[in-house]
Amino acid sequence: MLNADLHCHSTVSDGTLTPEALAGRAKANGVELWALTDHDEIGGQQRALEAARQQGMKYLTGTEISVTFAGQTVHIVGLGFDHRDPALVEGLRRTRGGRGERAQEMSDGLAKVGIHGAYEGALKYVGNPELISRTHFARFLVEAGVCKDTPEVFRKYLTEGKPGFVPHRWARLQDAVQWISDAGGLAVIAHPARYGFTPNEEYALFTEFKAHGGRGVEVVTGSHSTLEAARYAETALEFGLAASRGSDFHSPDESHTDLGALPWLPGQLTPVWELLADRIQ
Ligand code: AMP
Ligand code: MN
Ligand code: MN
Ligand code: MN
Repeated sequence: MLNADLHCHSTVSDGTLTPEALAGRAKANGVELWALTDHDEIGGQQRALEAARQQGMKYLTGTEISVTFAGQTVHIVGLGFDHRDPALVEGLRRTRGGRGERAQEMSDGLAKVGIHGAYEGALKYVGNPELISRTHFARFLVEAGVCKDTPEVFRKYLTEGKPGFVPHRWARLQDAVQWISDAGGLAVIAHPARYGFTPNEEYALFTEFKAHGGRGVEVVTGSHSTLEAARYAETALEFGLAASRGSDFHSPDESHTDLGALPWLPGQLTPVWELLADRIQ
């Protein structure tokens, strides 16, 4: 089996390592095929491609697009697209828009519960001014001693109903899938177990995703248990989707799953990289 890791984040979104440092770490961990999938952003793709080449690793272009579906945020990973495709570049630019304003509102919400200066604090952790995210706020709140780690920050401050949570409308599912597909890539539902959908909502997500041209699902990811991976292996077969594998690595200090350190894909599934053979660089 190929050690493919097709999901991780750099300083270009909410990771703490540069694309070059990630490439080095992936190689050291035995990754043979790599994709950098920054949130709503492909500004790191050229660097990642060159770093992969330097490490002697195969590369697929990648991104992770924030989508609003059934009132919730769903992540769609795109793989193997042309990272210069104008419609994709523009769609992602629009998807990023609004993050600055949202961050100001998050900061206002936190100020109401006595946490001041969170916007400025979060900004210190931001590598890309267009991509201020909840993760950067979480890092600041840990630094400020408000919480002991980032999961605690999310639990207490940054999820629905909590003081720093600001609802946001991201891209439409069909647009995200179309930008990726039209740019020659393959769209993948990221970490499906994380959404907390009812069975009906989840069925609707997979059905609509497929109808719009989506072709893959993450089965093995850093955010799935063994049981969840087995469950989504069945879903992949049921919907005729290829399977992806990715750590979702963000940081050596925060991520429990390191690059490439994942179980193998169950054998009966079609790996996404088989469908993307001619897109591997
Ligand atoms: P945003 O795109 O600004 O809404 O931020 C979403 C990011 O927050 C995700 O990509 C994760 O990196 C991080 N995140 C979301 N939920 C949690 C959580 N419960 N614990 C730690 N990090 C989280
Ligand atoms: Mn993230
Ligand atoms: Mn995600
Ligand atoms: Mn991710």
